[in-house]
Amino acid sequence: MESVHLPRGEAALDGRLLIGGEWVAGKELAAKLSPVDGKPIAEFCQAAGLGGRREALSRLRRLLVERRGAIVATITRETGKPLVESYFEVVEALECLKFMPARAAKLLRERRVVLKQPTFFLKKVRQVWEPYGVVGLISPWNFPFSIPMGELLQALAAGNTVVFKPSEWTPFTGLLLGRLLTDAGLPPGVVNVVTGDGRTGAALVAAAIDKVAFTGSVPTGLAIGRAAAERGIPASMELGGKDPAIVRADADLATAPEGVLWGAVMNCGQGCSAVERVYVERGIHDAFVERLAAACKRLVVGDGAEPATSVGPLINPAQRAKVCAQIEDAVHRGARVVCGGEAPARLAASGGWFLEPTVLANVDHTMAVMREETFGPVVPVMAYAGEDEAVRLANDCVYGLGASIWTRDLAGAEALARRLRAGNVWVNDVLFSHAAPETTWGGTGLSGHGYTHGDAGLLTYVHPKWISIDGSTAPKDGWYPYGPERREFADAVVELLYGHDLLKRARAIPRALRGMR
Ligand code: NAD
Repeated sequence: MESVHLPRGEAALDGRLLIGGEWVAGKELAAKLSPVDGKPIAEFCQAAGLGGRREALSRLRRLLVERRGAIVATITRETGKPLVESYFEVVEALECLKFMPARAAKLLRERRVVLKQPTFFLKKVRQVWEPYGVVGLISPWNFPFSIPMGELLQALAAGNTVVFKPSEWTPFTGLLLGRLLTDAGLPPGVVNVVTGDGRTGAALVAAAIDKVAFTGSVPTGLAIGRAAAERGIPASMELGGKDPAIVRADADLATAPEGVLWGAVMNCGQGCSAVERVYVERGIHDAFVERLAAACKRLVVGDGAEPATSVGPLINPAQRAKVCAQIEDAVHRGARVVCGGEAPARLAASGGWFLEPTVLANVDHTMAVMREETFGPVVPVMAYAGEDEAVRLANDCVYGLGASIWTRDLAGAEALARRLRAGNVWVNDVLFSHAAPETTWGGTGLSGHGYTHGDAGLLTYVHPKWISIDGSTAPKDGWYPYGPERREFADAVVELLYGHDLLKRARAIPRALRGMR
C-alpha cells in the first residue's frame, strides 16, 4: 500500500507570551528540548510571578514624582479642584505605593499552623492567601486619581489583575493612571482601563470578573451588590457619608472653625467623609458660627487651576442642583443662611457650576441637609446641650463613615469617640487618614461594607486557602466503620478532652486509647 504523503512545513517556534491579544517578550527564558535527540529546539518565556510586578511598582513611584505636573494638571482640568488638592492625590498615591506592596509581601506570606486537637496533631497545615483573579474596579470622580490608585495597588500587590472603569466625569485621569502603569512596565493585561458611564460599569460587573471593588453612591452600590450577588461574586462597597463634627465648649476657637470649614468645603465639599453636620456645644455656638462665617468669606471660589483659588466648582449641573435644593429646603423649614448660598456673581458668565461656600444655622434633623448626603460646600450648624445629646444627634443617621471631635480634653474625646457610629473618628483634625494607608478606611450602615487601605483592605483582595497534609496513609479515627466501639471511643474522647472532673477524665484515658485506630 502506498504511504500517504503529509506536507511537512516549518515548525512554528515563536516563544513569546500571548497576553491581552498581544505577543509579548518575557525576561526569563527556558529551553524546550527535543524528545528525539535531547537538544534544545527553541526558547520560550518563563512568565514571572509577583517579582516583576514589584519592580514595575517601584518604577511607578519614580514616574509619579517625575510626571506630577501633568498628573495634577489633568486632575484639576477634569474636576476643577484647586491644584493643591490635586497634589494631595499624588501624595496619597505615593504613600500607597510605599505601603501596600511592602505590607502585602509581609501580611500575605504563607504560614504553618500547628493544630491543637490531639487527633489532628501530626497533620502539616499551611495557610496561603490566594488572589481572586480578575477584579472589576469601579470608581467615582471626586478623587479620581488617589482612590483608584489605592485600590489598584492593593489588588495588584495581592496578585490580582484589574479591569478599571473610571467615572464618566473623569475618564482622562483614569486613562492617565493606566498610561502610568504601562509606562512603569507592568505587563500587558495586568491592568485594563475601560471608560464609559454606568452601562459600562454594569457590563463589567456582568463580565467574567471574580470580584467587584466599588466606590461610589449608595443607589449604585446597591444595584452593583445585587448584580454581584446574582453572579455569586464578592463585592466590596465604599459608599456615601454624612459625617458629623462635634465641637465641644473647650475647643480651640481660633482653629476649630478653620478645621471644620476645611473638612466641609475641601474638594468643594465633594468628599465621602466631608463634614456635613456640625454640632456645637450651646455655650460657644454663636461665637463659633461667627468665626466659621468669617473664615468662609475669606475663601476664593474659582477655577482650581488659578493658584489663588481655594474652592473649585461642583462636578456637574445635577450635583449643583441637588445641593441648591437642599439649601432651599432648609431655608423653607426655618434655617438661616449665615453666608454664601448663591453662585458667586463674579463667575456668573463663566458657565461653570460654582457655588459660594455656605454656612447654615438654625438647622434640625427634619431637613434634608442634615439627613441626606449633600456633597457640596455647605456647613450646617446646630447647637447641642450635653454629651449625650451630641452622641444621639451624631448617631441619628443612616451613614457611619467618619466623625470628628474638636476639644482640648483629649481623654474625654477618646471616650466620646468610642460612642460614635463611624469607621474613623478624628480628634482636632479631619479626613487626613485616607492619606495614611496603614489605617483602614471604611464605614458602617449605608456607608458600605468591605474595607480599603490597611491590613483589612489588603485582605479584601484575597481569600484564604488551607492546605492540610497527612503524612500517614493509615485510616483515621473518624472514618467508617462505626458501631458500639466507635460510640464508646467518641464518648471517651468528649470526657477526656472537654470534661471538668479530673478523675472522670483520667478514667476516660484507657477507654480512649483502646478505641484509637
Ligand atoms: P456614582 O455611584 O454615581 O458612580 C460611581 C461609579 O459607578 C461611576 O464610575 C459610574 O459610572 C459607575 N456606575 C453607575 N451606575 C452603575 C451601574 N449600574 N453598574 C455599575 N457601575 C455603575 O457615584 P459618584 O457620583 O461617581 O461618586 C460620589 C459618591 O461616591 C458619593 O456618594 C460619595 O460619598 C461616594 N464615595 C465614597 C467613598 C468612600 O470611600 N466610602 C469615596 C469617594 C466617594
